[in-house]
Amino acid sequence: MSKSNLQLVWFRQDLRVANNHALYFAAQQGPVIGLYLEAKEQHRKHHESSAKVGLRKSILKELRIELNKLSIPLLYIELDDFRGSLEAIEIIMEQYQVNDLWFNYEYLLNEINRDEIVVAGIQKSGRSVHQYHSDLILEPNQLTSLKGEPYKVFTPYKRAWLKHFHDSPPVTLPKLKKQALELNLYPQENIELQEKYRRDLWPCDYSSQNKRVKKFLKKQARYPEARDIPSINGTSGLSPYLSLGSLSAQGLVLELLAHMDKEGLRDWQSNVWLSELIWRDFYRQIMIDNVERLCKHGAFKKRSEPWLENEEGVKRFQAWQQAKTGFPIVDAAMRQLEQTGWMHNRLRMIASMFLTKLCLVDWRWGEKHFMQQLIDGDFASNNGGWQWCASTGSDAVPYFRIMNPITQSKKFDQEGAFIKKFIPELSELDNKDIHFPTSEQRKACGYPEPVIDYKSARKIALELLA
Ligand SMILES: Cc1cc2nc3c(=O)[nH]c(=O)nc-3n(C[C@H](O)[C@H](O)[C@H](O)COP(=O)(O)OP(=O)(O)OC[C@H]3O[C@@H](n4cnc5c(N)ncnc54)[C@H](O)[C@@H]3O)c2cc1C
Repeated sequence: MSKSNLQLVWFRQDLRVANNHALYFAAQQGPVIGLYLEAKEQHRKHHESSAKVGLRKSILKELRIELNKLSIPLLYIELDDFRGSLEAIEIIMEQYQVNDLWFNYEYLLNEINRDEIVVAGIQKSGRSVHQYHSDLILEPNQLTSLKGEPYKVFTPYKRAWLKHFHDSPPVTLPKLKKQALELNLYPQENIELQEKYRRDLWPCDYSSQNKRVKKFLKKQARYPEARDIPSINGTSGLSPYLSLGSLSAQGLVLELLAHMDKEGLRDWQSNVWLSELIWRDFYRQIMIDNVERLCKHGAFKKRSEPWLENEEGVKRFQAWQQAKTGFPIVDAAMRQLEQTGWMHNRLRMIASMFLTKLCLVDWRWGEKHFMQQLIDGDFASNNGGWQWCASTGSDAVPYFRIMNPITQSKKFDQEGAFIKKFIPELSELDNKDIHFPTSEQRKACGYPEPVIDYKSARKIALELLA
């Protein structure tokens, strides 16, 4: 069978041109055709929020524009779920006489199973498959303890990560050049935009994403203090783009280091924002090492699981989902999630510890609800975060550490500015009362009574979780 020199690049969770390893190396071999397979039913099975699905489609349109500037077409095919992937790819490869398929690894169970089928099928037909790591900052499986085992605790992992990064730093991939290819040979199917999300908060074009990176880098020196205050934009707000791969985590770190270098800041290893990005790598590595168990909803660590599965548990869960727990900081956080598709990291910790440890609701219920709402829903980080809060995770908080939602509120939302923004009914209350209004104030403001009594809930939790 005579084959063309065309290369097929299958985009998945790497919706970008810059720092995309599969795309870059494919383009060194010959002209590229891009392909995206939209598996609609799979998004539902993975509990992806309509916000995330919506942003992904908008970014795909932008990706096509960027690729077209390089004369690379982006074919778009809608499938029900992952099962149709091999057939769809085979048809394209046959139609355009392509011999080589290129893509970046994904690390979750369904994705691994899908890829195994695709790789076996494509190789069986005498064609070649090329796979790259382009999601983590450091390639996975590089770091092992002195005993040769994978790390389970963040601090030694981070130490080894920093050493590895220092000894063999990744390099930015060069910019791709425009390729000589007849675009009109490839009809590019329409990408329908359907889902609604807050476009005002989450722009989809790459120029806005890059502006957000630059803006954050300028203020990153203030991140260590600013990151814990939910009423200000103290964090980067880049998580939706990292989750969809429209920004590269590795690219961001290299930009951070270049920025620090320019500013004369030498101590990059102590950079707090870098540390958060390393947490992202850490949770991904934990997922890779325990993929079967974690993707099948298993706890990383076997512990007591005193979750209420009765009517009371459901009542508490619904109050939490509907932002009616009667704890202002928790309810404000849940409204932020509902209204923006995103929640501040400190609030994710407060809200999830409240649900798991004080309401005794299974962390898996909360994990699923977050996935169904978050625009940055990401299995590894979400699962890692929930298991951390529930003390079942790899390097989790000890079971007896339970965040008090009232003192957290007083500490991180001192003036009640965040609460007032999302619960305007409470805006008349002063800085003292707003964190936990009296019964009379609740009645007057139309705000619910607390769903649990903090002191007794904490006592019960300490007994049951021990
Ligand atoms: C219960 C719970 C659930 C979470 N679910 C998700 C999720 O579904 N998707 C998600 O991307 N993050 C999740 N996180 C981690 C964190 O809350 C978000 O990454 C962060 O709030 C995103 O905002 P940002 O981009 O402004 O972060 P920044 O503070 O600017 O951090 C930069 C990037 O570092 C990474 N990062 C930061 N903190 C963490 C962390 N604790 N764990 C892993 N990566 C981190 C993210 O990619 C983030 O975009 C969760 C945390 C908890 C406690």
